[in-house]
Amino acid sequence: MSTVNKAIIIGAGPAGLAAALQLHRKNNIDVTVYELRPRPSNIGGSIGIFPNGLRLLHRLGLYDALLARGAIVDTFHIHSLHQGNIGSMDISAWAKKKSGFGFMRIIRRDLLEVLFDAIHGEEIPVHFDKRLVSIEEGASSVTVTFSDGSNDTADILIGCDGIHSSVRRLHVDPATKPEYSGIAGSGAIVSTVGLPEMLRKEANIIPTTAGVIAMFPCSAAGDQLYWFLSRETPIPYSESGNERDGWEVRRQQEMEVFKSTIREMTKPAQGEWRGVLAALVDRTDVIGFYPVFRLPLGGKWYTSRTILLGDAGHAMQPHAGQGTSMALEDAFLLSRVLKEKDWSLEHAFARYEAIRRPRINELYQLAAKNGRRRKATGSWALWVGENVMWARLGLYRILGLESWGLGQTHLVYDIDEVEL
Ligand SMILES: Cc1cc2nc3c(=O)[nH]c(=O)nc-3n(C[C@H](O)[C@H](O)[C@H](O)COP(=O)(O)OP(=O)(O)OC[C@H]3O[C@@H](n4cnc5c(N)ncnc54)[C@H](O)[C@@H]3O)c2cc1C
Repeated sequence: MSTVNKAIIIGAGPAGLAAALQLHRKNNIDVTVYELRPRPSNIGGSIGIFPNGLRLLHRLGLYDALLARGAIVDTFHIHSLHQGNIGSMDISAWAKKKSGFGFMRIIRRDLLEVLFDAIHGEEIPVHFDKRLVSIEEGASSVTVTFSDGSNDTADILIGCDGIHSSVRRLHVDPATKPEYSGIAGSGAIVSTVGLPEMLRKEANIIPTTAGVIAMFPCSAAGDQLYWFLSRETPIPYSESGNERDGWEVRRQQEMEVFKSTIREMTKPAQGEWRGVLAALVDRTDVIGFYPVFRLPLGGKWYTSRTILLGDAGHAMQPHAGQGTSMALEDAFLLSRVLKEKDWSLEHAFARYEAIRRPRINELYQLAAKNGRRRKATGSWALWVGENVMWARLGLYRILGLESWGLGQTHLVYDIDEVEL
């Protein structure tokens, strides 16, 4: 029989904050969060959240606050640099009918602020600037120690510390290490003032021979746009032999050449896109560079008193837009299994894993498949791809396939409805 009165959460990202709220409110567990950074993170561009994640944010009571900040972006327009409009689709129309939620694009900082507001509202303690150095697990408790000499003890430890998780590295699964996906993204948030109306309300995607250019409104007023180039990028050479140094040099280079790269790539752009892309380049100031790492599937997720949630356990490529939603689903399911008072902790964690594995594997593979579409290609292959897409989107529209929910069933999955 498991009685969890106190939990330590490492990491104040979406997984850690959602788990803290859910366990505090639904399980009456005394929760403390420890975060590595000196203050709430404000890095990153914007992220997309699909109906399965938005539904859970709604259950956390946060949807209205998010709606006041983020953009609901239902329609995606696909364009060709050479051939004009390829087609459009509503990427979550069917899921929206079933769940009541569409697709939201929101600045990452805004999502975290809304989560933090709720955490403060519940008076859940969050300690910043805490570097975890050791974990000791005993028969009835687990103790964590930080580099400043402080420590804490609880019934369970929840590792929500992202893809480079210390909880995983120090304790749960040191053998599982992040691997590079071969894809990197560079992007910026810019003002939409003076740009065409469609950029303020809808998503616009341009496949190119080098990768994909995408533009998403990311504020409720439509005045902020996140645009990025996502493309195949080889692991950089590093003179020191250290891959991290190589990425740092590559990051610097990307800052210098991003604008000229886009200008060169988009020279053949037709019609209004030529002017739009030039305007985006001109108003781009701070550029973020994100080589995409993931964790290999199949790593260990828990020990007798410690469990990994979110990217710490199963970081996937962002190309299915599901990383945050997976973290939220994890938090909700953990709360449910810990509520089963007749279950031992071991049984609760085992059931958690049995339910999460197939779901994570499915979306991990989908993200990897979508990521492959960002690989460099020849002009001829791009032309064929654009025409296939044109035919597909046309058929989709003519036959009304949107109403069939093709490719959207994973968006209506409800973790609270899954049988334990
Ligand atoms: C370029 C890019 C684009 C993305 N786009 C999307 C998208 O559109 N939609 C989507 O759903 N997902 C997207 N993702 C994925 C998404 O960001 C993650 O899946 C999500 O943030 C996972 O949440 P998390 O809380 O598990 O981890 P994180 O968000 O990484 O949070 C981990 C937290 O733990 C802290 N931490 C790290 N180490 C320690 C430590 N040792 N001790 C204490 N604290 C620690 C970190 O500072 C951080 O605050 C994207 C990711 C990238 C890289």
